Amino acid sequence: MSKVLVIGAGGVGTVVAHKIAQNCEIFSEVMLASRTLSKAKVISDAIGTKYKSCKIQIVQIDANKLSELITLFRSFKPELVINVALPYQNLTIMDACIACGVNYLDTANYEPENEAKFEYKWQWAYQDKFKQAGLTAILGCGFDPGTTNVFTAYAVKHHFGEIHYLDIVDCNAGDHGKAFATNFNSEINIREITQKGKYWENGQWIVTEPHEIHKVLNYPNIGKKESYVIYHEELESLVKHFPTLKRARFWMTFGQEYLTHLRVIKNIGMARIDSVLYNGIEIVPIQFLKAVLPDPGLLGKDYTGETSIGCRIRGLDKRGKGQTYYVYNNCRHQDSYKETGTQSVSYTTGVSASIGAILFMKNIWSKPGVFNVEEFDPDPFMEQLPKQGLAWYEIFNENLEV
Ligand code: NDP
Repeated sequence: MSKVLVIGAGGVGTVVAHKIAQNCEIFSEVMLASRTLSKAKVISDAIGTKYKSCKIQIVQIDANKLSELITLFRSFKPELVINVALPYQNLTIMDACIACGVNYLDTANYEPENEAKFEYKWQWAYQDKFKQAGLTAILGCGFDPGTTNVFTAYAVKHHFGEIHYLDIVDCNAGDHGKAFATNFNSEINIREITQKGKYWENGQWIVTEPHEIHKVLNYPNIGKKESYVIYHEELESLVKHFPTLKRARFWMTFGQEYLTHLRVIKNIGMARIDSVLYNGIEIVPIQFLKAVLPDPGLLGKDYTGETSIGCRIRGLDKRGKGQTYYVYNNCRHQDSYKETGTQSVSYTTGVSASIGAILFMKNIWSKPGVFNVEEFDPDPFMEQLPKQGLAWYEIFNENLEV
């Protein structure tokens, strides 16, 4: 039995559905559940047309409601749930998994709706429950977090005796032609990038003002881009699992126009995550903003350019000699669109989640408990990446610029 239930029919859900259809010998039955059934239907219709041998069942669900999840899990009986809805639903879905004996995978850590924290503590607290139930929970299996964690684990396994400095560099050198849009769920994205910067150095977290630290970095096949240190959730699990790290940072590229929009959004209160009274009803400004911004899942059509995401690492090689290492993937938006109808941010995330699911179904990434992806063997994941559409490259002993 290898039934899989995908929750969330957005940009990432679209890519996961395509990848499952391309690997239908591994997944015996597929169901896509989401809040808005019509969006799930668009995806299942597209899959039905493109991949004749794969049929995706669809169902409407509110994944904030434990009882609805339990009813669905008991009737469909999935072996694995791929959660690509929103981080707010992670704990409810994990509770339903425990109640029904279902394994779990997601791409982003739990967030309380009224606090932007980006911490793993709530999900790590499920360790004993999953262990006792003999179930696997794979956390943060998108691209970053996800593939970047695997890149780091692969570097440690094959190339380093000790890693000391890790810089995850995330560049989107794409142009979608819109004045302002986010590349994944805008509510989560704006929460993430308007918070204070934070990085790990000498055993403690250093907090900065948002976008305070920045410099120009050179990206393969793209060139120089202004890059900003922001906090990103994989730093928390990576410094825990690789304690030799003296410093770990995350860099993301932003254009001036994007930052100007962001500043205005924040200054006028539209990034607020608490509720305000509007015409007698309570609304959350950032949720209203999401409703009027372009749908990230639909940006692909006119998107040009590419993403480049990777890990730049310094440390000692297996013989104790100083070494630099850069492992990365570049992904062209037009290629992602041609294959799945989405852009590369959805594509790289969905492909990574699907690889995690494939490895779970093959019993390779499967052990009782709650795990970040760097706690599994990186090799089978690295082997799958190019097969599933994401080629990766390594550069040794060049100036890392960071
Ligand atoms: P979208 O907003 O495009 O899609 C989210 C989907 O979840 C929508 O279909 C939405 O339904 C559905 N959903 C929301 N709330 C519920 C609910 N209560 N019950 C059921 N379904 C619900 O987001 P993305 O596809 O861009 O992102 C999906 C996830 O992937 C997010 O958690 C995001 O943080 C994560 N991500 C991770 C990355 C990584 O590299 N690790 C990178 C990019 C994204 P509706 O259509 O009704 O809105």
